[in-house]
Amino acid sequence: MIYIFCAPSGSGKSTMVKHLLTMHPDLFELSVSCTTRAPRGEEVHGREYYFISVEEFQKRIDNDDFIEFEQVYDGLYYGTLKEEIDRIEADGRQVLFDVDVKGGLNLKRILGDKATSIFICPPSIDELRRRLEGRGDTSPEMIEKRLAKAEFEMSFQPQFDKVVVNDDLTHAFEQLDAIIEGK
Ligand code: ADP
Ligand code: 5GP
Repeated sequence: MIYIFCAPSGSGKSTMVKHLLTMHPDLFELSVSCTTRAPRGEEVHGREYYFISVEEFQKRIDNDDFIEFEQVYDGLYYGTLKEEIDRIEADGRQVLFDVDVKGGLNLKRILGDKATSIFICPPSIDELRRRLEGRGDTSPEMIEKRLAKAEFEMSFQPQFDKVVVNDDLTHAFEQLDAIIEGK
């Protein structure tokens, strides 16, 4: 099974994905996307993302290297490489995707029953702001852009296979574990 994680930025997608990777390192692997944004905080090329230039991203589009790509924010491109699925499946692991809502719905349409799409829901927009500010690695301008998009993204929640409400972290992990165990 492939798991597609989607949510407004700051809802806790990375936290959920890290939980699965820590609990089951032999079972899951994260698909590393390409992005044209600069690395944040402790991010490392090839681990969180392949950080590439706009020119290189365009070359990848021309080569038909992406399953899907989006301009997620003004001028910032993110794309899922076809070769990531092959790389991870060759390792004998299940693929985790952390992508925006539109990209996630596209992936689900392409992958069908091979994939479960999971929407991580923040308790409220106010809490989303607190989390983005608390993370301390995103500029105030980018935080406003992300919050402006969040309500629109929330409207897609009914189109997902599963929803995890990330209010209390322990409870969110329990909901996620139940999904992975097929409950
Ligand atoms: P995303 O990947 O969706 O952008 P993150 O996983 O980076 O979001 O989470 C955003 C911030 O909120 C991080 O600082 C994270 O530690 C914090 N966070 C995540 N889940 C919770 C929670 N249930 N309660 C409080 N803080 C949380
Ligand atoms: P961030 O800049 O916070 O890492 O990510 C911004 C948004 O882009 C997040 O919602 C993240 O899930 C999404 N994203 C990351 N990689 C991809 C990708 O390959 N495709 C799409 N469509 N979105 C992505």
